[in-house]
Amino acid sequence: MTGAPSVKSEFPKAYEPGKIEKKWYDFWLEQGYFTPEIDPSKRPFVVIMPPPNVTGELHLGHAMTDTLEDIMVRWHRMKGEPTLWLPGTDHAGIATQVLVEQELAKQGLTKNDIGRKEFLKTIWEWASKSRTNINSQHQMLGASCDWTRDCFTLDEGPSRAVRTAFVRLYNKGLIYRGERIINWCPRCQTALSDLEVEYKSIIGHLYYVRYLLADEEGFITAATTRPETLLGDTAVAVNPRDRRYENLVGRDVILPLVNKRIPIIADDAVDPSFGTGALKITPAHDPTDFEVAERHNLPLVNIMNPDATMNENAGPYVSLERFVCRDKAVADLKDKGLLEKIEPYPHSVGHCNRCQTMLEPRASRQWFIHTRPLAEAAIKAVKEGDITIVPERFTKIYFDWMENIRDWCISRQLWWGHRIPVWHCQDCGRLTASVDEPLACEHCGSNQIVQDADVLDTWFSSGLWTHSTLGWPDDTDDLRYFYPTSVMETGYDILFFWVARMIMMGLEDTNEIPFHTVYLHGLLRDESGEKMSKLRGNVINPTEATSEYGVDALRFALTIGSSPGNDINLGKGRLKSSRNFANKLWNATRFIFQSIDANALRSRTLQVDVIASEAKQTQGPQRLEDRWICSQLNRLISNVSNLMEDFQFGEAARQIYDFIWAEFCDWYIEFAKIRLRSNEDEPSPLPYLVNTLEKSLCLLHPFMPFITEELWQSLKVRLLRGVYPERDEILRYAQNDRRRRARNDNLALPASIMIAPYPTFDEKAIDSEAAQAMDAVIEIIRSIRNARTQHKVKSNKWIEAQVYADVLLPNITPQAKYIETLARVRPLVILKRRERRPDKAKALVLVLKQAEVVLPWAGMVDRLAEKERLIKEKELTQARIAQVNTRLRDNAFLTKAPSHIIEKEKGKLHTLEDKLERLKSELSQLD
Ligand SMILES: [Zn+2]
Ligand SMILES: [Zn+2]
Repeated sequence: MTGAPSVKSEFPKAYEPGKIEKKWYDFWLEQGYFTPEIDPSKRPFVVIMPPPNVTGELHLGHAMTDTLEDIMVRWHRMKGEPTLWLPGTDHAGIATQVLVEQELAKQGLTKNDIGRKEFLKTIWEWASKSRTNINSQHQMLGASCDWTRDCFTLDEGPSRAVRTAFVRLYNKGLIYRGERIINWCPRCQTALSDLEVEYKSIIGHLYYVRYLLADEEGFITAATTRPETLLGDTAVAVNPRDRRYENLVGRDVILPLVNKRIPIIADDAVDPSFGTGALKITPAHDPTDFEVAERHNLPLVNIMNPDATMNENAGPYVSLERFVCRDKAVADLKDKGLLEKIEPYPHSVGHCNRCQTMLEPRASRQWFIHTRPLAEAAIKAVKEGDITIVPERFTKIYFDWMENIRDWCISRQLWWGHRIPVWHCQDCGRLTASVDEPLACEHCGSNQIVQDADVLDTWFSSGLWTHSTLGWPDDTDDLRYFYPTSVMETGYDILFFWVARMIMMGLEDTNEIPFHTVYLHGLLRDESGEKMSKLRGNVINPTEATSEYGVDALRFALTIGSSPGNDINLGKGRLKSSRNFANKLWNATRFIFQSIDANALRSRTLQVDVIASEAKQTQGPQRLEDRWICSQLNRLISNVSNLMEDFQFGEAARQIYDFIWAEFCDWYIEFAKIRLRSNEDEPSPLPYLVNTLEKSLCLLHPFMPFITEELWQSLKVRLLRGVYPERDEILRYAQNDRRRRARNDNLALPASIMIAPYPTFDEKAIDSEAAQAMDAVIEIIRSIRNARTQHKVKSNKWIEAQVYADVLLPNITPQAKYIETLARVRPLVILKRRERRPDKAKALVLVLKQAEVVLPWAGMVDRLAEKERLIKEKELTQARIAQVNTRLRDNAFLTKAPSHIIEKEKGKLHTLEDKLERLKSELSQLD
C-alpha cells in the first residue's frame, strides 16, 4: 500500500475536477475502504445495487441511482457502521439477445445460422466487455461499492441460486407448466410477462361479421378488431341476460370462411354494450376467450406459427403473414356478403417493449409461478411494517398490484439466460427438476432425458438478487451478517417488475424479508419537465456532463432539492449552479489556507508563546460571530442528520448548500477577513474557520466526494505541518471524538475524509441570543447596502449612519467595525433609542425587524446632482407617458391593432406611471 496521493503545498488557484477525481478514487480503492469488515458487535448497513443491464452504457438514470446510494453508504460508513454496497450486472435476457441479433444482422446472419453454442459464445464476449465498461463508469461517478463482491446474474453462485429456487418452488407445487394465453412477440419469438408489454393507442377498425345460423334462416353479428382470428373461432357467446339473443343460445352457426358448425353459448364475461353484444370466441388467441373456453369445454384452435404467419389450421390462408391474411379474409367476407360494416376504432394494443413489434396473444405451453401464496406473504410483510416503502404513497399502489396479481409466466424462448432446470424423459414422458444435471429420469430411471429448451425470465434471477449475491443457498458468513439488507433503492417505475418480486422470492427462499426499506426515486426530466428521449434530443450524457462540470457537480445537481418518488428536472442551469457552488467552496477554502499559512509563518517567528497560551485559555467561542457560526453549524448538523435519517437527501443538500454559501462564505468569512487584517490583539477566528470548514466538508462529503476529499486532505496537511498556536485548538475538535483516537493515528486524524467521523450535534453550541443578534447585524448591513444601490451611491464612498439597536445594543456595539467595513459607513454611531423623529427631508430612515438605521442624505448623495438626475429622469418618463397616451387615444390604432398589443401598451403606461410616482417621492425626499 502506498500513502495518500500528494496534495500541493501551494494550493491551486482554480478548481479543476478532472485533476482530482481519479487519484482519490484509486486511493480509496487501494486502501480497501469500500470493503466492510464483519464485526458482529455492530449492525451493518447494506445496499444491494440494482444491477444495470449489461446491454450498454450507463445513462443519467444510473447516475442518479449511483449518487443516491453512494450518499447513503458514505453517510453510514462515516457514522462508523460496517457498510456494504454490493455492485452487479444483469444479463438482461431478451434485451441483450435482441441487441446481439441486430449486430449479427449487420453481417447478414441470424442466430440460427451460427447455432446456439456459437451464439452464446458471441454474447458472452460482448457481455464481458460491456461489464468492464459499465463498472468503470460507476467508478468514474465515485460509487464506493465493494468491487471484491461484484456479481453477474449468470455467475455460478447466482445461477445455482436460480436453480435451487426453481426446484424448491417446483417441489412445493408452486411452479407449473401449462397452456395459457401469453403475450407473444413474433419478432423475438418468445413469451413475455405482462410487465414487458408496452401499450400503444392506435386507430384500428371494428369489423362486424355475420355468422349464419346453421339450421334456419337468420344470422348473428359479432364485432372484432382482428377478423383473421375468426379462423380459430370455436363459439359465439352472448350475455345470458341479453334479451336480444335469448332464443339463439344453444343453436349452431356456420363459421364463415371455414364452414364449420360452432355453438352459440351464454357467458357472463360478455359485455352486452360492446359492438352487437355477441362475441366471437377464439380461445387460442385471446385471454378472455381462453377463460370462456375453459368454462364451456371448447377446443383450442391455434391458427398461427410462432412468427405470426398462418399455420395449417387456417385452411386456404396457410402461410400468409397475419396482416396479409387479414386483408384477404376481409375481402372474402365482403364477397360473400358476410361483412356488415367496418367502423374506425381507437384502442390500445400491446407491443413488445424490446423491439416494438405488435404482440400476438397466443395460447402456449409455458412455465408459470403460482404467485398468490407468495404475494400473500409479501403483502403481510409491508402491512405489518417489516418493510417500509418511501415515499409512503407507493404502499397503496403496491397493495393494489399484489392483491390482483396474476400467475407469472417465467419461461422465455430465448438462448441467453438461465436454462430451466427440468429434464424431459423420452421414455416415460415425465419431468425431473434438479439443481444439478441429473443422470437419469427420477421416475423410470431412463437416461434418455433432455433439458427443457427454454430459459427463465430475467426477473426471476433478479428477484433473488438480495440473497443470491450474498451466497444463498449456502449458509455463508456474508448471508448471516449482511442479510436482510437495509435499503433497496431504485426508480419507482420498477416497483412491480423487481421490488415486489424480490420481496416475494426473498421471503420464500429465506423466510426473512430481503430489506427493511424500499426507497423509490423519481424519474429524470429535462429543464422544462419533458421526458428525456433521444427523439427529443434532450438527453444529457453523464460522461459529457462530468467532463464539462465535474462529477461532484453532476451528483449535486441530481440531488439538491429532490425528494423521494418525485421526478426531477435536470438541465444546464442546475449543473452550472452546482459547479459554481464547488468553485465557491474551493475559493473559500483557499482563503482559509492562505490565512493558516500566513499565521503559521508569523507565529513561528514572533508570537508563538503569547498567542499559544491565549488560545489554550479560550474555552469555547466568546465573540458574537464565533458563537453564531458554531450555533448555526450545529443547527445544520442536527437538521441534516434528521433529514438523512428520513431519506430527505435533496433537502439535506439544500441546507448544506445554503449554510456554506450564505452563512459561512458570505458572512462569517467576510467578518473573519476583517479580523485577520486587524492589528488589534484579539482571538483569531482561525479555529472557527477551520472547524466550520472541516465539519462542512464532512457533511458535504456523501454528496460531493471528490472535492471534499481534496480540500480535506489539503487542510489536514496544514493542520499537521509546522507549529502554530491554533493547532491545538483545532485538533481539540478532532480529539474529542473517540473514534479518531481509536484509530490510533498518532496525528489524531484519519487517513481519509471518507472514514472520518460524521459530525455529531452538540446541543451546548446552540446559542439563540447570538443568532438573534447576528440576524440583526446582517439585516443592518444588507439594508444599508440596498439603500446605497437604490440611490446609486458609488461603491467606494463612505456614508454616515446611525443605528438604533434597543435591547440588542450590547451585542451589536462590538460588531461596529464589521458594519462599518461591510456597509461602508463612517462615521457610524450605535445608540439604544433615538430621541426624536429624524427629519425625513434630512435623512433616510430604514425600519428593520430589530433595529432602525438612519442615513443622513448629506454625504450620501450629492443632493444637487441627484436632484438633477431625478428631474431629468422624471421629464423623460413624462414624455414617454404622453407618447403612449397619444397612441391609446388614436382610434385608428384602437380599431386595427390586435387586442394583445393594446393590452401591452396599457401595461406599459401602468409601469411608466408607477415609475413617475416613485421619482416624485424620491425628489420630495431631497427637497
Ligand atoms: Zn420483440
Ligand atoms: Zn422416465
